[in-house]
Amino acid sequence: LAGRLQGFGTTVFAEMSALAVATGSINLGQGFPDTPGPAEVLDVARAAIGTPADQYPPGPGTPELRAAVAAHLERFRGLRYDPDTEVLVTAGATEALTAALLALVEPGDEVVLLEPMYDSYAAAVAMAGGVVRPVPLTPPPPGTGDGHWTFDPADLRAAVTPRARLLLLNSPHNPTGTVLDRAELAEVAEVALEAGLLVLTDEVYEHLVFGGAEHVSAATLPGMRERTLVVGSGGKTFNTTGWKIGWICGPAPLVAAVRTAKQFLTYVNGGPFQPAIAAGLALPDAFFAGIAADLERRRDVLVAGLREAELPTVSPQATYFATVDVSGVRPDGDGLAFCRELPERAGVVAVPSGVFYTREHADLGRSLVRFAFCKRDEVLAEAVARLGRMR
Ligand code: PMP
Ligand code: GLN
Repeated sequence: LAGRLQGFGTTVFAEMSALAVATGSINLGQGFPDTPGPAEVLDVARAAIGTPADQYPPGPGTPELRAAVAAHLERFRGLRYDPDTEVLVTAGATEALTAALLALVEPGDEVVLLEPMYDSYAAAVAMAGGVVRPVPLTPPPPGTGDGHWTFDPADLRAAVTPRARLLLLNSPHNPTGTVLDRAELAEVAEVALEAGLLVLTDEVYEHLVFGGAEHVSAATLPGMRERTLVVGSGGKTFNTTGWKIGWICGPAPLVAAVRTAKQFLTYVNGGPFQPAIAAGLALPDAFFAGIAADLERRRDVLVAGLREAELPTVSPQATYFATVDVSGVRPDGDGLAFCRELPERAGVVAVPSGVFYTREHADLGRSLVRFAFCKRDEVLAEAVARLGRMR
C-alpha cells in the first residue's frame, strides 16, 4: 500500500456490515435504507435498461439529469446553475468529493473540515496529497434535548493557516446529525472570504431534516457562490444508495477542473439510473416533505428505545443517525469495544464514532457510537426490544 494510504485499511462500514451478516444481527451500522425508493424513480430505470441508455452516457452526465439537478437546486435553495457548464454528474457524492479534492488541492495544501467527519474525507484528502486541519464539533449538553453540535469560531480561525486551500463542509452532518445554522455558516463564509478559501459542501442529507431545523446551503451566503462547490446525491433521497448517482455544482471554471479529474476516475456513470434520478428530482415538494416526516418518526422510535435501554442518546436534527455516549454504561468508555460486543449481547450492530475522528483527536470520539434509523418499523421495533434485553 502506498504511503499516502497507510492507515486507511478497510472502511468501518464494510467491517461492521460483515459482522452483522456473520452474527445474524440487525444492522444499524452502515447507513442504507431497507425499503425500495419511489415507483416513479424505479420504473424509469427499469424501462431504460435494454435501450441505448445502456451505453456510455455523455461525460458530464445526461442533459436531462443535469437540467433536473439545476432545477432542483433552484427550487429548494434558490441557486441557479447552468446545466451545460456548472453541473457535473458523478459516481455518488463520494466521487464528486474525491474528484474535487484531486482537481483543486496541491500537495501540501491544507483542507479545513469539521470533525468528526465522514470516513472518505481524510482518505480523499490524502490521495490528493493534502493535509487535514480538523475543527472539532462539540456535542450538546446531555439532557438538554438539543440535537445541535457546534464549533468554536476561534477553533475554525486557528485551523486556517497560510497553507489552507479549501474548507470542506458537511451539513446536514454525518455522523452527528447536526444542521449548521445561519450564524455558523456566516462564520464559515467570513473565514472563507477573508482567507480566500474554496468551499466544498457535502449536502447529501439535504432533504432528511427534522422538526424546526432548516438546511441552508453554504453557497447561498453573500459572496459564496463564486467560491463554492455544492455536492449532492440521489442515494439518500430516493433510497438508491447502490446506484451511485451524485452531482457537483459550482462556477464553471471550478466544475471544469473537477470534470478533468472525474473523466479519468470513472469517465461516466450508470446510464439507466440517470433518467431515473432526473425523474426523482422533479417529484413534487410533498414527496420531499414526506420522506423527512417518515424518517423523523423512525428517529423518535429508535431514540426512545435507546434511552429506555439506558443509553444516553443525542436525538439528531437530520440524517439517518443517532449518537449514543457509552461512557456511563462502560467504565472504560470504549465505543469500539462496545460495538464489537453488541452483536453477542444484543444481536444489533452499530458503528463506533471514533472512526470519524483524526488520530490526534481520537479521544474526543472514543465513547461515542452511531446507530442508524433508516430501517423499517418492524426492524427498529425488534432492535429496540433486543437492546432493552441487552446482557
Ligand atoms: N457524504 C456523506 C456525509 C455520506 O454520509 C455519504 C454516504 N452515506 C456520502 C457522502 C456518500 O454518498 P454516495 O453514496 O452518494 O457516494
Ligand atoms: N454513508 C453511509 C454511512 O455513513 C454509508 C457509507 C458507506 O458504506 N461507505 O453509513
